[in-house]
Amino acid sequence: MRKDLINLLKKTVAINSIFPNEQKLSDFIYKFFKLKKFKVYKQLVEKNRFNILVEKGQSKKAILLYSHLDTVGIVQNWNTDPLKLYIKDDKAYGLGAWDMKGGMVINILSFLNFNPKNYQLKLAFCVDEENISKGAYKLINSHFFKNVDLVISTEPAFFYGNQGIVIGRPGRAVFLIKINCQPKHYGFYEKKYDINLFISQLIKDLSKFYKKNKAKKQFVFVKKIESKTVGLSTPYEVNLQIDSSIIPPLTKNQLLDQIKEKINYLNKKFNNFFEVKVDFYPRETPYLDGYEISMDNFYLKILKKTINEVTQKKAIPYFRSSIADENLFGSIGKTVLGIGPAGENAHSPNEWVALNSLEILYNIIINFLKDIDQYDLG
Ligand SMILES: [Zn+2]
Repeated sequence: MRKDLINLLKKTVAINSIFPNEQKLSDFIYKFFKLKKFKVYKQLVEKNRFNILVEKGQSKKAILLYSHLDTVGIVQNWNTDPLKLYIKDDKAYGLGAWDMKGGMVINILSFLNFNPKNYQLKLAFCVDEENISKGAYKLINSHFFKNVDLVISTEPAFFYGNQGIVIGRPGRAVFLIKINCQPKHYGFYEKKYDINLFISQLIKDLSKFYKKNKAKKQFVFVKKIESKTVGLSTPYEVNLQIDSSIIPPLTKNQLLDQIKEKINYLNKKFNNFFEVKVDFYPRETPYLDGYEISMDNFYLKILKKTINEVTQKKAIPYFRSSIADENLFGSIGKTVLGIGPAGENAHSPNEWVALNSLEILYNIIINFLKDIDQYDLG
């Protein structure tokens, strides 16, 4: 097992897949499964960018093991060649070793080594996770995803090592608030015409969205301010870019409405002197909503038991404060559970993954897939 694991990790780390250049890794995985005679599909996302989808078995419902193909770029201060897996003791260093080629390799080995009787087992490898989730969007809208009842994602475990289960994430959206008014000549300055006073109050009002409950943090903050002014006048336009972390069940659309409400209320105090437009800051794919899996969830209960049996320690379901492709699966109502290996330095120099933790992850997944196979998933 360790030999297969290291072998495959070496190969995948050596293939540069810094987004948007995932093609070589897509091809490698496609050929890998083709040679082993599995049903494998290339899903075109955009020019030279493919998701790879694999399946085994026949059944109404499927369990999907998920990973992304891309990594972030190479940053400075690596002590070793980031594309050459370097192993010292239990640590395997390499770009993407932890985020998330380690998890990807475990998904592959688990898929190869288990044949379910009562459900279909699927694998998805998607592009563009480190960017704007174009690959995952393509996946959720495809026929392949329709019968998926559970997504297991093997993103790195930021907390609690092999005991942690990610059961929720916040949503995120960027908004653009465009504020216009008649400029006033220097000689006619009055506070009530001062667009910056309006904005300073607005920023204070937006800070009231802040909410914190353990790891669940909601906030709205100004990412960028731009103003326009001519000659000896007060500014006539200010653009605010607003970033946010949104705790479910609040959605990005509801937050947009609430921001509009706050602005209208404030503008009344200024006799509606300002003309304000608010909308999502444009991007190619929609922003991601949050999700949270219920503690009563059937799969979660079984996974907790499996983790307990494999690690001899209690499983720790937790809400994670970052955004990922899992948001897409969770916010359309699929069960998505995150379990990953331990490591350090994701998106930083000297990224490493713990080999022992990858082996434990493998045992957890294999045992979980077996445990689930005792049930009729309908
Ligand atoms: Zn990742």
